[in-house]
Amino acid sequence: MTDKKVRVRFAPSPTGPLHIGGVRTALYNYLFARKQGGDFLLRIEDTDQKRFVHGAEEYIMESLRWCGIQWDEGPGKDGPYAPYRQSERKELYRQYAVQLIDSGHAYYAFDTAEELEEMRKRIEAEKGNAQYDATTRGSMKNSLTLNNVETVAMLESGAPYVVRFKMPANEDVVMQDQIRGTVKVNTSLLDDKVLFKSDGMPTYHLANVVDDYLMEISHVIRGEEWLPSLPLHVLLYKSLGWESSMPEFAHLPLLLKPDGNGKLSKRDGDRLGFPVFPLMWNDPNSGEISSGYRESGYFADAFVNMLAFLGWNPGTDKEIFSMDELIEAFSLERVGKSGSKFDPAKARWFNHQYLLKREDKEVAALFNLILKDRGIHEPMEKVTKIVSLVKDRVSFVHEMWDQAVFFFIAPREYDDKLVKKKWKDDTPDILWQVTDVLKNLEPFTVQSIDKALHDYMEEREVGAGKLMIALRLSLVGAGMGPDLKEIMVLLGKEEVIARIEKAIDVIGNK
Ligand code: GLU
Repeated sequence: MTDKKVRVRFAPSPTGPLHIGGVRTALYNYLFARKQGGDFLLRIEDTDQKRFVHGAEEYIMESLRWCGIQWDEGPGKDGPYAPYRQSERKELYRQYAVQLIDSGHAYYAFDTAEELEEMRKRIEAEKGNAQYDATTRGSMKNSLTLNNVETVAMLESGAPYVVRFKMPANEDVVMQDQIRGTVKVNTSLLDDKVLFKSDGMPTYHLANVVDDYLMEISHVIRGEEWLPSLPLHVLLYKSLGWESSMPEFAHLPLLLKPDGNGKLSKRDGDRLGFPVFPLMWNDPNSGEISSGYRESGYFADAFVNMLAFLGWNPGTDKEIFSMDELIEAFSLERVGKSGSKFDPAKARWFNHQYLLKREDKEVAALFNLILKDRGIHEPMEKVTKIVSLVKDRVSFVHEMWDQAVFFFIAPREYDDKLVKKKWKDDTPDILWQVTDVLKNLEPFTVQSIDKALHDYMEEREVGAGKLMIALRLSLVGAGMGPDLKEIMVLLGKEEVIARIEKAIDVIGNK
């Protein structure tokens, strides 16, 4: 099996937006495929028509594209195993259901909803485990209890039926999982799962196994929530005579809520203060809008890097990885066994790192869009310089506005607390004198301002703390912001003097 070409698949059901746990599954599959020189497939598992959600498939594809996870085969990129949408493969599955029935591994069941409910009540009253299995199937209406003639008559009458897997009684299924190791489950715990329905549609289990086989999937890498299905899948491979081409399995640990209390679920939505979806999602049924990482200002590469680390680590201190570096470093051996707590602060930290890594020019182009929205039009050179001064203070481009607003709009108010603490009776006089110094300063550069202010402070024996805070209050309106001289150069001499004069006027002698 090891010399088999590596072929992995991401197999989402279009039942809603892709949760970040789903994106992580896709990412790990993609990294694994690229690292191994294999193929990465996207297969849409849309056999459950009742759960179909309009727009979900497009959403899934758009999310993968945004992350830079490119599929080699799948919708829109058909390959030798097309089609890749299960609803378009419908006709294919029936023969395998029939094969399983013919070989005695599955059977027709005709029980109505009421009959199933009756069985449930009866068994529960006896304190038993109410499931359709080796202990109960003998008392139900199916092709094991009916004779051949009766079964054929039922089928010909058009009565609704399902095909159920005949789960062996009391047999240990021993499975290998690349993350969990050896997993052993006794079949007495498992029920006779439905594989196929009379509407001609397979269920997830049958379609998934048949397609993995037909598409020559070498490794199934998926979320841990599918581990309970593994015994059935392994038994299906065996029953269909495909054991020798069974893929390897790797079940990824869950993503947990930040407090570690349970799985991070779709329903957590924006409840916890951060997105659980890669892109914004507008639910077509409820009209509810859920936020997405993209719309919240995350860079795709930062998002991917953050996700990669939720369950995997490279075994070194390095944390910033491009997609190519992730591919190079990725291995299933380094995927942890336990669930990973989602850490919103760390997510922001990753974005901050990617913001710092980006060229000022590139960030400036993005920030300029925000400025334009606010009706502010400044030369790119100036915007770029401002970006270089404030970007280490923020995690997102949109947060730059609060850090840089005073470059564009003169303060209308002055931080009260700071004024009370630092604006003394002689502050207006000092500022008047400084405006005189600045008026005559030519050229008006960081160096010349620095020297002029120093000379002034030395001559008049004014403390740096006092002068600098008064100046900052005048120019920024608060005690924040980057280097004061840089601010002054960017504002220009005239504006600096105007702002100082205005502050003296407004704050005055308090
Ligand atoms: N369609 C399943 C899902 O929605 C796929 C599980 C698997 O990868 O086998 O997650």
